[in-house]
Amino acid sequence: MEPNLSTKEKITWCSGCPNSQILVSFRKAITELVQNNELKIENIAAFAGIGCHGKISDYININSFTSLHGRLIPAMTGTKCANRNLTVIGFSGDGDSLDEGVEHLIHAAKRNSDVNLFVHDNQVFALTTGQADAMSAKGYKGKSTPLGNIEEPFNPLLLLLSAGATFVARTYAGDIEGTKKIMQAAIAHKGFSFVDIIQPCITFFDTRDHFKERIYWLPEDFPKGDLKAAMEKVSGNLPAGEESIDEKVPLGIFYKVEKPTFEEELYKFS
Ligand code: SF4
Repeated sequence: MEPNLSTKEKITWCSGCPNSQILVSFRKAITELVQNNELKIENIAAFAGIGCHGKISDYININSFTSLHGRLIPAMTGTKCANRNLTVIGFSGDGDSLDEGVEHLIHAAKRNSDVNLFVHDNQVFALTTGQADAMSAKGYKGKSTPLGNIEEPFNPLLLLLSAGATFVARTYAGDIEGTKKIMQAAIAHKGFSFVDIIQPCITFFDTRDHFKERIYWLPEDFPKGDLKAAMEKVSGNLPAGEESIDEKVPLGIFYKVEKPTFEEELYKFS
Protein backbone atom coordinates (compact mmCIF):
# COMPACT_ATOMS: atom_id res chain seq x y z
CA MET A 1 0.00 0.00 0.00
CA GLU A 2 1.26 3.49 -0.82
CA PRO A 3 2.01 5.46 2.36
CA ASN A 4 0.54 8.94 2.70
CA LEU A 5 3.59 11.13 3.10
CA SER A 6 1.84 14.44 2.41
CA THR A 7 0.64 16.93 4.99
CA LYS A 8 -1.89 19.76 4.86
CA GLU A 9 0.78 22.42 5.36
CA LYS A 10 1.06 25.02 2.60
CA ILE A 11 4.46 24.92 0.91
CA THR A 12 6.07 28.31 1.42
CA TRP A 13 9.34 27.81 -0.43
CA CYS A 14 9.79 30.28 -3.31
CA SER A 15 7.92 29.12 -6.40
CA GLY A 16 10.28 26.86 -8.35
CA CYS A 17 12.72 26.36 -5.46
CA PRO A 18 14.61 23.06 -5.89
CA ASN A 19 13.81 22.25 -2.26
CA SER A 20 10.49 21.02 -3.68
CA GLN A 21 12.37 18.60 -5.93
CA ILE A 22 14.25 17.24 -2.91
CA LEU A 23 10.90 16.75 -1.18
CA VAL A 24 9.56 14.81 -4.19
CA SER A 25 12.71 12.66 -4.33
CA PHE A 26 12.44 11.87 -0.64
CA ARG A 27 8.76 10.96 -0.81
CA LYS A 28 9.47 8.67 -3.78
CA ALA A 29 12.45 7.09 -2.03
CA ILE A 30 10.48 6.34 1.13
CA THR A 31 7.37 5.19 -0.74
CA GLU A 32 9.37 2.59 -2.66
CA LEU A 33 11.23 1.38 0.43
CA VAL A 34 7.95 1.00 2.33
CA GLN A 35 6.21 -0.76 -0.55
CA ASN A 36 9.15 -3.17 -0.84
CA ASN A 37 8.94 -3.88 2.90
CA GLU A 38 12.45 -2.52 3.41
CA LEU A 39 11.33 0.20 5.80
CA LYS A 40 8.41 0.96 8.11
CA ILE A 41 7.15 4.53 8.35
CA GLU A 42 6.82 4.26 12.12
CA ASN A 43 10.51 3.34 12.35
CA ILE A 44 11.72 6.55 10.69
CA ALA A 45 12.85 9.48 12.81
CA ALA A 46 13.36 12.60 10.69
CA PHE A 47 15.23 15.70 11.79
CA ALA A 48 15.75 19.17 10.37
CA GLY A 49 17.77 22.21 11.32
CA ILE A 50 17.20 25.90 10.70
CA GLY A 51 17.12 27.35 7.19
CA CYS A 52 14.90 27.09 4.14
CA HIS A 53 15.46 23.31 4.12
CA GLY A 54 14.01 23.06 7.63
CA LYS A 55 10.46 23.53 6.38
CA ILE A 56 10.62 20.03 4.91
CA SER A 57 9.60 18.53 8.26
CA ASP A 58 6.24 20.33 7.88
CA TYR A 59 5.70 18.69 4.51
CA ILE A 60 6.41 15.03 5.28
CA ASN A 61 3.99 12.92 7.25
CA ILE A 62 6.74 11.28 9.30
CA ASN A 63 7.72 11.63 12.97
CA SER A 64 10.00 14.68 12.86
CA PHE A 65 12.01 16.93 15.11
CA THR A 66 13.19 20.45 14.27
CA SER A 67 16.35 21.41 16.09
CA LEU A 68 18.14 24.61 16.99
CA HIS A 69 20.43 25.98 14.29
CA GLY A 70 23.12 23.42 13.51
CA ARG A 71 22.14 21.13 16.37
CA LEU A 72 20.20 18.43 14.59
CA ILE A 73 23.13 15.99 14.58
CA PRO A 74 23.33 15.63 18.39
CA ALA A 75 19.58 14.98 18.38
CA MET A 76 19.98 12.43 15.59
CA THR A 77 22.85 10.54 17.15
CA GLY A 78 21.25 10.61 20.60
CA THR A 79 18.05 9.18 19.15
CA LYS A 80 19.95 6.40 17.38
CA CYS A 81 21.80 5.53 20.58
CA ALA A 82 18.51 5.32 22.46
CA ASN A 83 16.74 3.17 19.85
CA ARG A 84 18.88 1.36 17.32
CA ASN A 85 15.78 0.10 15.49
CA LEU A 86 15.04 3.56 14.14
CA THR A 87 16.17 4.79 10.74
CA VAL A 88 17.45 8.27 11.48
CA ILE A 89 17.34 10.79 8.64
CA GLY A 90 18.43 14.40 8.91
CA PHE A 91 17.83 17.30 6.55
CA SER A 92 20.20 20.20 6.88
CA GLY A 93 21.42 23.20 4.96
CA ASP A 94 25.02 24.05 4.17
CA GLY A 95 24.80 26.97 6.61
CA ASP A 96 23.17 24.70 9.17
CA SER A 97 25.70 21.90 9.14
CA LEU A 98 28.88 23.40 7.66
CA ASP A 99 28.77 26.67 9.61
CA GLU A 100 26.72 26.44 12.82
CA GLY A 101 26.97 22.68 13.35
CA VAL A 102 30.21 21.72 11.67
CA GLU A 103 31.75 20.41 14.88
CA HIS A 104 28.85 17.99 15.37
CA LEU A 105 29.05 16.92 11.73
CA ILE A 106 32.74 16.07 11.86
CA HIS A 107 32.45 14.10 15.08
CA ALA A 108 29.38 12.14 13.97
CA ALA A 109 31.32 11.14 10.84
CA LYS A 110 34.40 10.26 12.91
CA ARG A 111 32.30 8.01 15.17
CA ASN A 112 30.51 6.43 12.19
CA SER A 113 27.17 6.96 13.87
CA ASP A 114 24.52 5.07 11.91
CA VAL A 115 22.51 8.08 10.72
CA ASN A 116 21.85 9.74 7.35
CA LEU A 117 22.40 13.42 6.61
CA PHE A 118 20.97 15.04 3.47
CA VAL A 119 22.42 18.53 3.01
CA HIS A 120 20.44 20.99 0.89
CA ASP A 121 23.51 22.80 -0.39
CA ASN A 122 22.67 26.17 -1.93
CA GLN A 123 25.94 27.91 -1.02
CA VAL A 124 24.29 30.76 0.90
CA PHE A 125 22.30 31.54 4.03
CA ALA A 126 19.08 31.68 2.01
CA LEU A 127 16.45 32.02 4.74
CA THR A 128 18.13 35.21 5.94
CA THR A 129 18.30 36.52 2.34
CA GLY A 130 21.60 35.51 0.85
CA GLN A 131 24.50 36.15 3.21
CA ALA A 132 27.76 34.30 2.51
CA ASP A 133 28.26 31.01 4.32
CA ALA A 134 30.93 28.33 4.50
CA MET A 135 30.02 27.08 1.03
CA SER A 136 29.98 30.46 -0.74
CA ALA A 137 32.73 30.76 -3.29
CA LYS A 138 35.45 33.36 -3.11
CA GLY A 139 34.11 36.45 -4.83
CA TYR A 140 30.44 35.75 -4.03
CA LYS A 141 28.55 39.04 -3.68
CA GLY A 142 25.68 39.02 -1.21
CA LYS A 143 24.23 41.19 1.54
CA SER A 144 27.10 40.49 3.93
CA THR A 145 29.80 40.54 1.24
CA PRO A 146 28.85 43.36 -1.19
CA LEU A 147 32.45 43.62 -2.43
CA GLY A 148 32.82 39.87 -2.78
CA ASN A 149 33.51 37.06 -0.33
CA ILE A 150 37.20 37.03 0.61
CA GLU A 151 37.16 33.43 1.93
CA GLU A 152 37.54 30.12 0.13
CA PRO A 153 34.63 27.70 0.60
CA PHE A 154 34.75 24.28 2.20
CA ASN A 155 34.86 21.25 0.01
CA PRO A 156 32.27 19.27 2.03
CA LEU A 157 32.97 15.94 0.40
CA LEU A 158 36.69 16.16 1.06
CA LEU A 159 35.95 17.27 4.62
CA LEU A 160 33.64 14.31 5.29
CA LEU A 161 35.99 11.80 3.67
CA SER A 162 38.77 13.09 5.90
CA ALA A 163 36.54 12.99 8.97
CA GLY A 164 35.71 9.30 8.51
CA ALA A 165 32.23 9.16 6.96
CA THR A 166 31.64 5.69 5.50
CA PHE A 167 29.17 6.81 2.81
CA VAL A 168 29.85 10.01 0.88
CA ALA A 169 27.78 11.05 -2.13
CA ARG A 170 26.65 14.06 -4.11
CA THR A 171 23.55 14.58 -6.18
CA TYR A 172 21.66 17.42 -7.89
CA ALA A 173 18.18 18.41 -6.72
CA GLY A 174 16.93 18.81 -10.29
CA ASP A 175 17.60 15.12 -10.97
CA ILE A 176 14.71 13.64 -9.01
CA GLU A 177 15.32 10.01 -9.94
CA GLY A 178 19.05 10.28 -9.32
CA THR A 179 18.49 11.91 -5.94
CA LYS A 180 15.92 9.28 -5.00
CA LYS A 181 18.39 6.48 -5.72
CA ILE A 182 21.17 8.14 -3.76
CA MET A 183 18.82 8.66 -0.79
CA GLN A 184 17.83 5.00 -0.89
CA ALA A 185 21.45 3.88 -1.05
CA ALA A 186 22.32 6.15 1.89
CA ILE A 187 19.45 4.79 3.98
CA ALA A 188 20.47 1.21 3.17
CA HIS A 189 24.05 1.91 4.27
CA LYS A 190 25.01 0.98 7.84
CA GLY A 191 27.11 3.84 9.18
CA PHE A 192 27.35 7.59 8.74
CA SER A 193 25.91 8.59 5.36
CA PHE A 194 26.56 12.08 4.03
CA VAL A 195 24.75 13.25 0.91
CA ASP A 196 25.53 16.68 -0.50
CA ILE A 197 22.53 17.75 -2.57
CA ILE A 198 23.31 20.68 -4.85
CA GLN A 199 20.20 22.82 -4.48
CA PRO A 200 20.48 26.18 -6.25
CA CYS A 201 18.72 29.03 -4.43
CA ILE A 202 16.87 30.55 -7.36
CA THR A 203 16.15 33.76 -5.45
CA PHE A 204 19.52 34.70 -3.94
CA PHE A 205 22.13 32.64 -5.79
CA ASP A 206 20.82 31.02 -8.95
CA THR A 207 23.49 28.53 -10.01
CA ARG A 208 21.23 26.34 -12.18
CA ASP A 209 22.88 27.21 -15.48
CA HIS A 210 26.34 26.74 -14.00
CA PHE A 211 25.57 23.25 -12.79
CA LYS A 212 23.48 22.09 -15.73
CA GLU A 213 26.56 22.51 -17.92
CA ARG A 214 28.93 20.75 -15.54
CA ILE A 215 27.27 17.89 -13.68
CA TYR A 216 27.74 14.28 -14.74
CA TRP A 217 27.25 10.92 -13.04
CA LEU A 218 30.19 8.75 -12.06
CA PRO A 219 30.42 5.50 -13.99
CA GLU A 220 28.95 2.43 -12.29
CA ASP A 221 32.40 0.88 -11.92
CA PHE A 222 33.86 3.81 -9.93
CA PRO A 223 35.87 2.16 -7.08
CA LYS A 224 33.66 3.12 -4.13
CA GLY A 225 35.87 1.44 -1.53
CA ASP A 226 38.99 3.40 -2.49
CA LEU A 227 39.48 6.43 -0.24
CA LYS A 228 42.33 7.83 -2.32
CA ALA A 229 40.28 7.58 -5.52
CA ALA A 230 37.34 9.28 -3.80
CA MET A 231 39.52 12.12 -2.50
CA GLU A 232 41.05 12.68 -5.91
CA LYS A 233 37.65 12.66 -7.59
CA VAL A 234 36.12 15.27 -5.27
CA SER A 235 39.16 17.55 -5.22
CA GLY A 236 39.16 20.61 -7.41
CA ASN A 237 35.48 20.65 -8.32
CA LEU A 238 34.06 23.00 -5.76
CA PRO A 239 30.56 24.31 -6.49
CA ALA A 240 29.81 27.52 -8.32
CA GLY A 241 30.73 31.10 -7.64
CA GLU A 242 31.85 34.18 -9.45
CA GLU A 243 35.44 33.02 -9.26
CA SER A 244 34.63 29.32 -9.30
CA ILE A 245 36.85 26.68 -10.77
CA ASP A 246 35.66 25.89 -14.26
CA GLU A 247 35.52 22.12 -13.95
CA LYS A 248 32.99 19.35 -14.33
CA VAL A 249 31.09 18.37 -11.18
CA PRO A 250 30.74 14.62 -10.64
CA LEU A 251 27.64 13.17 -8.97
CA GLY A 252 27.18 9.76 -7.40
CA ILE A 253 28.57 7.66 -4.58
CA PHE A 254 32.26 8.47 -4.11
CA TYR A 255 32.90 6.31 -1.08
CA LYS A 256 31.13 3.45 0.65
CA VAL A 257 32.74 1.06 3.13
CA GLU A 258 31.51 -1.09 6.01
CA LYS A 259 32.91 -0.40 9.47
CA PRO A 260 31.55 -0.95 13.00
CA THR A 261 29.13 1.80 13.90
CA PHE A 262 29.27 3.93 17.03
CA GLU A 263 26.09 2.35 18.34
CA GLU A 264 27.39 -1.19 17.82
CA GLU A 265 30.52 -0.34 19.75
CA LEU A 266 28.56 1.42 22.46
CA TYR A 267 26.16 -1.48 23.04
CA LYS A 268 29.00 -3.92 23.53
CA PHE A 269 29.14 -2.51 27.05
CA SER A 270 25.45 -2.95 27.82
FE1 SF4 B 1 14.51 28.22 -2.02
FE2 SF4 B 1 16.24 30.24 -1.99
FE3 SF4 B 1 13.63 30.72 -1.79
FE4 SF4 B 1 14.96 29.58 0.22
S1 SF4 B 1 15.24 31.66 -0.56
S2 SF4 B 1 12.95 28.94 -0.57
S3 SF4 B 1 16.44 28.29 -0.89
S4 SF4 B 1 14.71 29.82 -3.56
